[in-house]
Amino acid sequence: MTNMKQIKKIFIANRGEIALRIIKTCKEMGIKTVTIYTDEEKNLPHSLAGDESYCLGSGPLSETYLNQDKLITIAKKAQADAIHPGYGFLSEKAIFAKKVESNGLIFIGPDSLSIELMGDKKTSKIKIQELGVPSIPGYHGDNQELSNLKNEATKIGYPLLIKASAGGGGKGMRIVEQESEFQSALEAAKRESLNAFGDDTVLLEKYITSPRHIEIQVMSDTHGQHFHLFERECSIQRRYQKIVEESPSPSVNAELREKMTAAAIAITRGINYRGAGTIELILDTDGSFYFLEMNTRLQVEHPVTEMVIGLDLVKLQILVAQGDKLPFKQEDLKQNGHAIEVRLYAEDPDNNFLPSTGIIKSIGETSVLHTRLDCGYVDGNEVSISFDPMLAKLIAWGENRNVAAKSLALALDEVLFLGVQTNRDYLKRILTLPEYLEGKTYTHFVKTYENKLRPQEKSKEAKALAIAAFLFSQKKSSNEDVSINNKTDVWAALSGFRNI
Ligand code: ADP
Repeated sequence: MTNMKQIKKIFIANRGEIALRIIKTCKEMGIKTVTIYTDEEKNLPHSLAGDESYCLGSGPLSETYLNQDKLITIAKKAQADAIHPGYGFLSEKAIFAKKVESNGLIFIGPDSLSIELMGDKKTSKIKIQELGVPSIPGYHGDNQELSNLKNEATKIGYPLLIKASAGGGGKGMRIVEQESEFQSALEAAKRESLNAFGDDTVLLEKYITSPRHIEIQVMSDTHGQHFHLFERECSIQRRYQKIVEESPSPSVNAELREKMTAAAIAITRGINYRGAGTIELILDTDGSFYFLEMNTRLQVEHPVTEMVIGLDLVKLQILVAQGDKLPFKQEDLKQNGHAIEVRLYAEDPDNNFLPSTGIIKSIGETSVLHTRLDCGYVDGNEVSISFDPMLAKLIAWGENRNVAAKSLALALDEVLFLGVQTNRDYLKRILTLPEYLEGKTYTHFVKTYENKLRPQEKSKEAKALAIAAFLFSQKKSSNEDVSINNKTDVWAALSGFRNI
């Protein structure tokens, strides 16, 4: 469907940093925004950041951010023209996109048919094979019987990967090293998939032992123009979740880039795609690459692309959604310099990445040139386990990869998140590791360099100084004697003095 209606008000069906990110572009474009929040989120900055905001009450996500009818009713009441789904939540629910449009609103994203086709790992692989793009050798068929899957596994060979067809976020995924492990791994993958997605269909894939994750950002308008906005590399992952993302990729040369972007455009053209999307590819050590999946929405890591090509992806999404013709040609788009993003999580890397909660006492600002902090919190906010543990994304641009990595490591020193444990120091250790700087970025990076990424033992002097500083700050604020009775506070203070 081609809309030719200028969007004046957008309902944001999301929260946190991405809601704030969308508002920023809307303000620049003179578009009004409507935000939503739950009872628990009243103090979070996204709640009142829109021109209008509505409380969703409380309860499970199905009653709040995932309640499609509730959201559409509010959007209509607020007389919004369009709904931006952000990422996660309802962003890749074909039925939601359909409902939004049948209610006379514009869905800022692709057609529901594209979402449906690409949302399933099985159907998307069949489609992209038709379009001549290679996918990982494997079995994507309907026969899900154990004996058949086992036969197919033998044909593919070990090691192999069992994946949930409806999967995402690494859920329902199992590596199988040898045949004797197949059945139990299959049962576990099916169980996990059923729990997470309500569907236990799996597919089998050859396991690539030393891959890199490369993805191509695409953008298509409704006038038959299909663009690629180059690649991002997101190989540094923990439990299949990206934690460091960058553009350009240190492992993609001009020739490979040409092939990968051509494959991406073959897909968007082939499915008559609309809006922003990401074609995820897996790159093998011999330079061959395979289609992994397509994400039919804005990615978490979109800022690295924005910093390198100098375009606002949310703005492009809005222009496409209102039926505009994108005002550039492919040859106008150039990669300039290098950008790296890290995802700051409320978790404790020194304690098996246990999720962390608490009140954020101080976040800190980054003063390093060409850095950007996309953050969904302000000082005093509480981090709870109800939502995603990602606190913020920190992104740095530099004229080359080393400069960007150095700036980002410096900026990380300033972004504190005092009061909760974060993976900040862990990320800094990654960025400063010689192997990272040499571009040895494979998906098993964090496992390979596990020992080197462990914290160095702090000196006794540094610890003593940090505790003294903490006590001093307490004394100053309370004007009375204090004792150390809160271990979390001490560690928070210590984390602020790690650079001593
Ligand atoms: P999800 O949708 O659950 O995130 P993906 O299919 O996108 O799953 O894969 C997530 C990550 O898992 C990839 O970035 C890559 O690191 C790893 N991976 C996926 N498929 C393979 C494979 N066949 N061989 C090796 N690693 C893989």
